Amino acid sequence: MELDSKSPTGPIETRWDRHRFSLKLVNPANKRKHTILVVGTGLAGGSAAATLGELGYNVKCFCFQDSPRRAHSIAAQGGINAAKNYHNDGDSVYRLFYDTVKGGDFRSRESNVYRLAQISLNIIDQCVAQGVPFAREYSGYLDNRSFGGAQVSRTFYARGQTGQQLLLGAYQALERQIGAGQVQMFPRTEMLDLVVIDGKARGIVTRNLLTGKIESHLGDAVVLGTGGYGNVFYLSTNAKGSNATAIWRAHRRGALFANPCFTQIHPTCIPVSGDYQSKLTLMSESLRNDGRVWVPLQTGDNRPPNKIPEAERDYFLERKYPSFGNLVPRDVASRNAKQVCDDGRGVGETGLAVYLDFRDAIQRLGKHVIKERYGNLFDMYERITGEDPYNAPMRIFPAIHYTMGGLWVDYNLMSNLPGLYVIGEANFSDHGANRLGASALMQGLADGYFVLPNTIGDYLASNKFDRVDTSHAAVRDAESQVAGITRKLLAAKGTRSVDSYHRELGKIMWEYCGMARNAEGLKYALSKIPDLREQFWRDVKVLGTDEELNQSLEKAGRVADFLELAELTCLDALDRNESCGGHFREEYQTPEGEAARDDERYSYAAAWEFRGIGNAPVLHKEPLTFEYVHPAQRSYK
Ligand SMILES: Cc1cc2nc3c(=O)[nH]c(=O)nc-3n(C[C@H](O)[C@H](O)[C@H](O)COP(=O)(O)OP(=O)(O)OC[C@H]3O[C@@H](n4cnc5c(N)ncnc54)[C@H](O)[C@@H]3O)c2cc1C
Repeated sequence: MELDSKSPTGPIETRWDRHRFSLKLVNPANKRKHTILVVGTGLAGGSAAATLGELGYNVKCFCFQDSPRRAHSIAAQGGINAAKNYHNDGDSVYRLFYDTVKGGDFRSRESNVYRLAQISLNIIDQCVAQGVPFAREYSGYLDNRSFGGAQVSRTFYARGQTGQQLLLGAYQALERQIGAGQVQMFPRTEMLDLVVIDGKARGIVTRNLLTGKIESHLGDAVVLGTGGYGNVFYLSTNAKGSNATAIWRAHRRGALFANPCFTQIHPTCIPVSGDYQSKLTLMSESLRNDGRVWVPLQTGDNRPPNKIPEAERDYFLERKYPSFGNLVPRDVASRNAKQVCDDGRGVGETGLAVYLDFRDAIQRLGKHVIKERYGNLFDMYERITGEDPYNAPMRIFPAIHYTMGGLWVDYNLMSNLPGLYVIGEANFSDHGANRLGASALMQGLADGYFVLPNTIGDYLASNKFDRVDTSHAAVRDAESQVAGITRKLLAAKGTRSVDSYHRELGKIMWEYCGMARNAEGLKYALSKIPDLREQFWRDVKVLGTDEELNQSLEKAGRVADFLELAELTCLDALDRNESCGGHFREEYQTPEGEAARDDERYSYAAAWEFRGIGNAPVLHKEPLTFEYVHPAQRSYK
């Protein structure tokens, strides 16, 4: 299979403009004749559905929550990047592009990243026009703060609730289109299969989560903005409902899955506290603007933090990376936290934590300033741990947070299946092997508001769409597959809960495919996962019936997919004999313990083709070329 990225050539500054001009347009009268199915109402799906509706397309939009505004994007705390250079501190579109390519450890597509940096400017204008209440300086200009992997302040924020405020903006735009009859909204509706007719994505099969009714929806194109798959690790910072089902079932229908092993581990999360915990809580990266990360210099130093004198503290990020200090990218900060804990210098009861200390910032700026900047995060920390972070340092530890991998898409955000578009965290497009903080919101909104609405028109204008209805054999086949899975899950009537399988899978993934991986561990995981999957189908206990709201059944379907995706993730990690970004193979590191890439052999996006469970997937490679930011060992020193 030829993977054509459709990446434009020529000067990078004009690629998107020239490409847009080359795309065919759909005239306003013809837009009314097309139906587009958008799955997902997070920042990616919500912004796409609203914009497509505004353009005049008929849109059907789906989410599994009770309201589109409950998408996981609402959890985003810290901010959204844009190269506005309001601070006049040296930022530019080119610098954001450079930081992102370097931050992704040279495993992303240059054309996509440059476009993302360009569009970042439009996003802020659009959101301000919508009334998103970004923080402002005394002058009235929008305020910025810094995030990891950058030496400029380019992160726009709304206290610690940036995702919520941005989503309210997209949601209002979406509701307007719902009110205008341009978008038909299907909440509490889960996509369980993709309908492919004559090689093109033409519809989806859904299950009504309140009644259990299985239905098909047909259209001329399908857009998946269904979020990331970090919950394959069970414990993560993601919303409990976040799952891989939509993209995984599309993968089973032929869409290639790219770089599944590129998962992001966020350095600043509240540490795991016990075996029965089901969720981890993020402490936003924005806290590293003012918080200093440290551990005791000596192993086994159990004194309370305020009893450890300055000379006996190791501010290890500041020591090792004087240029970026506490604001090194997430992969680097996480790895270093693990290292000091492995050395026996971790703090807290388990020894699996490091301090994030605001003492100096409070002394310098006053408690009221810190409260203004991070108040809700401090409150959240206190509610969960019972400790007051104004008086004692937070204890933090890395946790699974974001997935850079996802369905493979070309420059137009179309997968290898014609008519199937994938946007936001669900695709693999822009972040390479490590995403910089505050860049996920930027990518979701770039895809939904600005890229997809342009590129999808070209596909619609260039293709003929025969009328299809739900009696088509492909629709029948997809519906019966969905019904079959539901029946099989309910029929198992086994002894173990869905959660117990999910937890066991997560432990395998974290242990052998987490922050550090090696060939031996990955092979072990690859031998365990198929056994666990077989046991799941034989012995899972799903309560209730399929004709009511049944969260046990919902979870079971999602865990079944995680059990397949986990295997591909480990296989991808084993296949990539190098370290890059969040993919740290212990065998491949520099003498200083940094990730050692192998550009000769692995400068490509790995796009996997599904060949059936039990059959080896086929690897397709999209070579990556770097004309502007030349691959070098990443240095934040
Ligand atoms: C705690 C936390 C804080 C974060 N903070 C930041 C930050 O400050 N800045 C930043 O840039 N990024 C941040 N991120 C990352 C960012 O929030 C996400 O990457 C981003 O919001 C994903 O948006 P999305 O639209 O792609 O998907 P989501 O917001 O996850 O939305 C997915 C949508 O798809 C729907 N869906 C999924 N599957 C199906 C299905 N099968 N059928 C029907 N509907 C389906 C869901 O109902 C939902 O509407 C944070 C992440 C976390 C976990």
